[in-house]
Amino acid sequence: MTDSLAARWQALHIDRPPSARLLAVSKGHPASAVRCVAELGQCDFGESRVQEALPKQKELIDLHLHWHFIGRLQSNKVRPVVKAFDVIHSVDSLLLAERVSRIALEEARRPDVLLQVKLRADPSKGGLSADELCAIWSDLQALPGLQISGLMTMAPLEMGSMQRRELFAECRALADRLKLVECSMGMSTDWKEAADAGSTWLRIGSALFGPRLLSTDSAN
Ligand SMILES: *Cc1c(COP(=O)(O)O)cnc(C)c1O
Repeated sequence: MTDSLAARWQALHIDRPPSARLLAVSKGHPASAVRCVAELGQCDFGESRVQEALPKQKELIDLHLHWHFIGRLQSNKVRPVVKAFDVIHSVDSLLLAERVSRIALEEARRPDVLLQVKLRADPSKGGLSADELCAIWSDLQALPGLQISGLMTMAPLEMGSMQRRELFAECRALADRLKLVECSMGMSTDWKEAADAGSTWLRIGSALFGPRLLSTDSAN
């Protein structure tokens, strides 16, 4: 188990372009698995549920890891997320961004925020359309207490490889237009397409850790 984990981590590191960093998505896996990967040199980990993440973070406090929240962000979870995570990939409305801003100031935190965009119709996912994002962009930029550093997107499940490439290229172009550096796109099955299109964060779970063991929220 540990050997294959190390082999998969190394293979992912060799195959990706250096500009596309690996975000190890540890949801559904115990703290012991995170510790194994951290010992290989991985610092950035992604979780999608607060209840699952907090005990793991507590258990791994000695490692000083960098935690990214990638799940759907409910307004009643903003405070624990702002307190426990360094980067939030899933802010998808002005209202939510305002709440993150207010709570970050109250908690003396300054999270990095990525705005989740949805560039194709997909009822199962959240996200701002390009038009919606552009309409609220100046309001978002004016919010104190947070750093908007990029965009995050996910491709609809049924999409083929070529369409994914197009979608990821559009997301990269939108980020460039807004002068945002980070593009969080690409998962276990489509990270190569995303890396080619200019992803800076590949969010990889099962291709690194193997199948998820604990039940997790699949609603995002
Ligand atoms: C679970 C999850 C991932 C990782 O998924 P894999 O297919 O296991 O790589 C990436 N991004 C988000 C938002 C997720 O919820």
